[in-house]
Formats: sequence, structure tokens, C-alpha cells
Amino acid sequence: MGNAMDNKKELIYFPTWTAGRKGYTEKIQTVFQEKLIEKDLVYTTQRAAILDYFLRADKHLSQEELYVALKPRGIGKVTVFRTIKLLEECEIIDKVEDAKGGLRYEIKSERPHHDHLVCLSCTKIIELQWPELEKIQSKIMRKTNFTPYYHRHEVFGMCHECSSKG
Ligand SMILES: [Zn+2]
Ligand SMILES: [Zn+2]
Repeated sequence: MGNAMDNKKELIYFPTWTAGRKGYTEKIQTVFQEKLIEKDLVYTTQRAAILDYFLRADKHLSQEELYVALKPRGIGKVTVFRTIKLLEECEIIDKVEDAKGGLRYEIKSERPHHDHLVCLSCTKIIELQWPELEKIQSKIMRKTNFTPYYHRHEVFGMCHECSSKG
């Protein structure tokens, strides 16, 4: 966790030990292809390009960033928007709120569950696992007879680097 602070890459569980695994990219591409078939949709080159961009990214991506990056390949805003929705429905990507209240997305498949610390000063998003919190949460869920499908813990504040500048 300590070096997460010095790391320029935001996705600390990726790609170092997840994406580096052989066959990882192909596996997620196959999942997407199969889910598209279930929905009677085609694995177009544009949809494939958007997924590939996510698979290579080392940070949490906004819709605008994806659009700007893929525009030279003739991919429009609407396609980016709809494909993000599709990838979310297929549970391949997940969202996180950023420092400006916007949404960013990251690959969810095959990465461990983690939470985020969002720096309101430099806008970086730090990933961390929080086992104690997960444990307390499960306990309370059992107590309240509530079945959780998913959750996100996002803490907004100032990172170590930014607060030491102050
Ligand atoms: Zn910061
Ligand atoms: Zn993340």
C-alpha cells in the first residue's frame, strides 16, 4: 500500500499482476463477446477498440478521455457512451466518482474488490483494499437482513503529497 503513493499509475491491482497473466486480455474479450451474443449484439471493431483501451489503461478513465483517445479511429461520442453502458451491464467495468463529481471507469473483471481515496487537490484516485471495513459491513448486512449486490466506498479528501505541500 505504501508505494501506491509514489506510483504514477492509479490501477495498482492492474496491470502488474492481473493483466500480466497469460490469456487475461483474451479471457475478457471472450466474456464480452459472449455477453453481446446473449444480447443479440455484434462484437464490432469499435466495441472491441473501446474494450482494448480499457484493458491497456493504467488509470480510471472518463468518458471524455476515451472519446478523445478514440476519435482518430472514427469512434463517436454516442458509441463510446453506449459501449460504456454495455460494459457496465456485462460487469466488465465499474465506475468511481472523481474529484469533480464526474464518473470514471475501470476494469472490474478479474481484479480484486477495492475501494478508492479521491484527492480533491490533485484529483488522483488511490486504490486500496479495506478488509476490516468489509467485515463490519457483512456483519451489519446480516443483522439488517439486507442482501448487498454491490457497494462502493469512496473517501474524498487530500492525499499525503498534497497535504505535505500545504
Ligand atoms: Zn493529491
Ligand atoms: Zn479502482
